[in-house]
Amino acid sequence: MPKHSPSSLNPKAPLVLDTRDLPRRPGALRTLRRVVPAPKDLGVELIGVPEGADLDLDLRLESVSEGVLVSGTVSGRVKGECGRCLREIDDSVAVPVQELYAYENSTTDATTDEDEVGRMQDDLIDLEPALRDAVVLMLPTNPLCREDCPGLCPECGVHWDDLPADHSHEQIDPRWAGLSQLNRTEE
Ligand SMILES: [Zn+2]
Ligand SMILES: [Zn+2]
Repeated sequence: MPKHSPSSLNPKAPLVLDTRDLPRRPGALRTLRRVVPAPKDLGVELIGVPEGADLDLDLRLESVSEGVLVSGTVSGRVKGECGRCLREIDDSVAVPVQELYAYENSTTDATTDEDEVGRMQDDLIDLEPALRDAVVLMLPTNPLCREDCPGLCPECGVHWDDLPADHSHEQIDPRWAGLSQLNRTEE
C-alpha cells in the first residue's frame, strides 16, 4: 500500500469534510453542522443506524500545528433487535467524535502511523472511518429492549412478560429421558 493514495476523496461526499475555508493557522476554527445520510453497515450485528437515515453532524474543525482536529457529536437513530427477546429496538445515539487529521507531509505525517493519526488528503478529511469506529464503540454488542428484559421462555418461546408468573412446562429430566429411550430399545 502506498503511504498516500492519490486524493480519491470526493469533496461532495456526505462524510468528507472540506477544510479549504479553514486557515492553516493554529487556533483557527470552523463549525460544521450538516445532516447527511448514514452510510451502509454503520453499526454492529444486532443494532445500527439504518442506511440512509439522517445523521446529524455537529462538529468543530480546529487548526492545530500539524493538522486539523475534528471534534463534536454525531447523532442519529438506531434500529436493532433485542438480544434476549428479539423485539425491535428503536432508539437514538449521540456519539462523541474526536480525531486528529495530520497535514500531508507534516512531521506528524512522517512520524506516526495512519492507524494512530488520521491523514488529510489535500484539504479533505474522510470522516467515515473515525465515525464508524466511534459508533461501533458506542453500540452494545448485546442490545436489550430494556435493561431488565426477561427474554423468552426457552420451552415455548413466549415472552416472559406475556406469561403468567407461575408459567412452567412439565419437564422430564434429560438424563431420565435418555434412560427411558434405552429401556424402550431393550424391550
Ligand atoms: Zn427484550
Ligand atoms: Zn413456556
